[in-house]
Amino acid sequence: MRLNPLGLVLTFAALVVPIIWLPALNHGGDTLALFSQYMGMAALIAMAISQLIATRFKVVEMIFGGLDQGYVLHKWLGILAMVFILLHDTIDADMRHLGGQNWLEELAETLGELSLYGLLILVVITIATFIPYHLWRWTHRLMGGFFVAGAAHYLFILKPFKNGDPLGLYVSAFCLLGCLAFSYRLLPARLRPSRRYEVAEATPTGNALAITLTPKGRALRYRPGQFVFASFASAEPHPFTISKAPSDDGQLRLSVAKLGDFTHRLHGNLRVGDAVRIEGPFGHFERRSRGKGQQELWIAAGVGITPFLAWAQALTDQDDPVHLVYCVKSKPAAAHLAELEALAAQKPNLTLHLHVSSSDGRADADSILAKTGQDPAKLTVAFCGPKPMRKALISGFGKRGVSARRFKFEEFEIRTGIGLQRLANLLFERVALPERIKTRLDL
Ligand SMILES: Cc1cc2nc3c(=O)[nH]c(=O)nc-3n(C[C@H](O)[C@H](O)[C@H](O)COP(=O)(O)OP(=O)(O)OC[C@H]3O[C@@H](n4cnc5c(N)ncnc54)[C@H](O)[C@@H]3O)c2cc1C
Repeated sequence: MRLNPLGLVLTFAALVVPIIWLPALNHGGDTLALFSQYMGMAALIAMAISQLIATRFKVVEMIFGGLDQGYVLHKWLGILAMVFILLHDTIDADMRHLGGQNWLEELAETLGELSLYGLLILVVITIATFIPYHLWRWTHRLMGGFFVAGAAHYLFILKPFKNGDPLGLYVSAFCLLGCLAFSYRLLPARLRPSRRYEVAEATPTGNALAITLTPKGRALRYRPGQFVFASFASAEPHPFTISKAPSDDGQLRLSVAKLGDFTHRLHGNLRVGDAVRIEGPFGHFERRSRGKGQQELWIAAGVGITPFLAWAQALTDQDDPVHLVYCVKSKPAAAHLAELEALAAQKPNLTLHLHVSSSDGRADADSILAKTGQDPAKLTVAFCGPKPMRKALISGFGKRGVSARRFKFEEFEIRTGIGLQRLANLLFERVALPERIKTRLDL
């Protein structure tokens, strides 16, 4: 999914609105200090919006167009806020004509510094994606605490306007919004809106575990391709796509691959009857037919097959013909292969192609088009899988005339970096390090 422009426009508007009030402020001719004050306010606004996105409220998805993309904006707003804070700190925001500070204002100054250094460390930790997720998650929770310190700094510091003035009220409203959003995220999962389910079946399929869940109350309503946050036996919620189309029995199915500590443990420990809390549904990765004469190509890599299982089940006779290319390392690793083969046999408009990378090599746009025989001019591509593969495919299909608009995807990673690894690779390539050092650095 791509970001909804509405979310970007609203965020941009929220950041620039304070500029309206700046010219009328008594800044004693110190425009640099005034700019620095604005940077401080913009940082608070950016962080408040970032906190709001992390609540996963429905309205967030409506505005930003998919939670996966909301989280990408959440990350960039955090980085932008850090830049604003650094500018606010480097350029002196003190306005001498306002007079000396009392103890409360001095305390506010200290809180500002605490917030600056705390956030700086946390942003660096966040963009260094090599830190394991479960450790990073705990450090990330502190972010809200430093935001609260920043908001207190703003409320009590000496500034050229009062908290009750329109500008003061505007920024205070964002401070309040950010603090409320942060407090909401601190609530245990069972106190946030969620539905109770129970494990009815857990069956290994390829390298994944197919978990069927039965509702213990009202069932979740969702569309094929959407995902949920599932909390197994009160553990931290993790995002998983619902790997089946909606059905009358209200059951859900999650197909979970072993990707880290939690998912490894789940494969070993999950039992029938275990309680599961489900938050959602989220995401806008939905199949949209572009009309007669158009061709659809779905490309799944590994456990990225999950949304396409739901799409394939929901495919009707009236739908356009679809080619599904399922890329796996080896045939035994292919989750739900028998089910997909049965679906392809049942549905004349669904053609399944298995791409086994150990024997067929890496899948790229040319090999996929050769396999499916489709015309790139009439093609809409939907992809779910790892980011490097997605980037290579977007570029490959782009060269064959499939524009980025006709290439649809979902971020399968909520915590995404800022390309530091790529940058390091580029720099090290230029510096021409000896081979033995490159090997040690894993470049
Ligand atoms: C929208 C979406 C849909 C997904 N659908 C599926 C699916 O259908 N099947 C499947 O097997 N996997 C799916 N994933 C990936 C799955 O969420 C991770 O593999 C799983 O959370 C890994 O957890 P771990 O602790 O075992 O691994 P770790 O090694 O701790 O984490 C591996 C990566 O998973 C992500 N992750 C870990 N914990 C969380 C968490 N609590 N919240 C958010 N992200 C987390 C992080 O990006 C992390 O870098 C999906 C992810 C997203 C974002």
